[in-house]
Amino acid sequence: MRVRMAPSPTGPLHIGTARTSLFNYLASRHAGGTYVLRIEDTDVARSTAEFEHDIIDNLHWLGITWDEGPQVAGGDEVGAFGPYRQQDRMERYAREADRLLASGSAYRCWCTPEELDAVRRHQEQAKEPPRYNRRCLNLSDAERAAFETANRPSVIRFRVEPETIRFDDLVRGEVEFDNSLLGDFVLVRNDGSPLYHFVVVVDDEAMEITHVIRGEDHLSNTPKHIALIRALGYREPRFGHIPLILNPDRSKMSKRKSQTSITAYREEGYLPEAFVNFLAFLGWSPGTEEEIFTLDELTERFDLAKVHKGGAIFDRDRLDHLNGVYIRALSDEQLALRLRPWVPDAIADDDLLLVVPLIKERLVKLGDVPDLIGFVWEPDDVVAAWYGPDLLHPKKGGPDEARAALERALVVLTELDDADFAADLLEQRCREAADDAGMKAGDFFSPIRVAVTGRTVSPPLFASLELLGRDRSMARVEAALRKLPVAAG
Ligand code: GLU
Repeated sequence: MRVRMAPSPTGPLHIGTARTSLFNYLASRHAGGTYVLRIEDTDVARSTAEFEHDIIDNLHWLGITWDEGPQVAGGDEVGAFGPYRQQDRMERYAREADRLLASGSAYRCWCTPEELDAVRRHQEQAKEPPRYNRRCLNLSDAERAAFETANRPSVIRFRVEPETIRFDDLVRGEVEFDNSLLGDFVLVRNDGSPLYHFVVVVDDEAMEITHVIRGEDHLSNTPKHIALIRALGYREPRFGHIPLILNPDRSKMSKRKSQTSITAYREEGYLPEAFVNFLAFLGWSPGTEEEIFTLDELTERFDLAKVHKGGAIFDRDRLDHLNGVYIRALSDEQLALRLRPWVPDAIADDDLLLVVPLIKERLVKLGDVPDLIGFVWEPDDVVAAWYGPDLLHPKKGGPDEARAALERALVVLTELDDADFAADLLEQRCREAADDAGMKAGDFFSPIRVAVTGRTVSPPLFASLELLGRDRSMARVEAALRKLPVAAG
């Protein structure tokens, strides 16, 4: 088994491409086959080195590896079937185009854009399917010679046979297309640059690809590819089209409407092992209730025949859930290490390790850490600027209740010396103070939480106070009191 992923470096790694790459990886590793990376950069105007970098880096980040092709962006190519970049394969395409011209399977077309437009309009009016009218296929020798002498711009078109194309899709089963509807499509532009349908077929043969596994958006391309394969006398690979990834409203996940770049998910702080686990379930399932799989376990279980035909819904809640499961499976030391990029350099590793137990239970994404625990390292005045006086009001109460709680809390903090400044004792004293004030514990704690963390939702309050220490806790409660209006009377 030889499979390939064939990304076009015309954008950052897209979630659909990542999932296709993963399925190719799993299928080839499961079968002990070979995995090829081919860079489809025939679209020179839109392909960039930065996008290639983004694609390769993020594939590595996901843990996906391959046997042939460039192993790192801009690096040397590995493998005996190169070059693996289409820009470096132009000679072969030109040779194969000549072969098609010589056999009569392709022909030159000199029609101008205006002429093609007129044909299209005519077909629209006649309610016929839009396709090339084959004018240039039927030119006389004299007409052809005239165009050639005039050096009029031309393209090379494939002569599509009016036949029914059938293939046994690895995912969808028997598929049938009527190629008489296709029209003769362009293989090579006037400037000699070859187009996608042509190069993909040439490359898959040259690289001895046995299984073409790609997104369902390519399904309608496959009859064109099979027709070309036949005209060129190539071996026909097996095709497998995996379902599209859909938004929850079942619309297609598009760059404009949805977050599709892997970099964006990575920057939010999803763990690669959670993300890969999530991707694997977009269109596949092991057929059991199990949901946590390492890449190796996925490889062992993956079966292309179990890939679903219907669209795969992208469920963010499930991704968040999986990420949480993976976060909680890390040791505190491992999690501290993973959090490092989201935490200011000024925070020492030991101090970071201290906050980890406070947030591990509720952390959804690594990137949430500044929001969740930033109050520990932000200066008091910054934290005070995060909230307005109203936020200090407990659920049942207004500024008076807030002030009562904060004043009593200040007494508790003042009375404990540094040695006793521990979560258990703080909690006990604050509960007693709440009783004294005739307030519910929740209402009493809430203004203290906002004062100390700047937020209504935070890690456990008393552990937070302990971590912050006596002086800083007191300073924050005092700052909160200054925000409240002066007591009436
Ligand atoms: N370069 C194509 C794309 O990025 C993939 C082609 C294929 O898999 O056949 O969509």
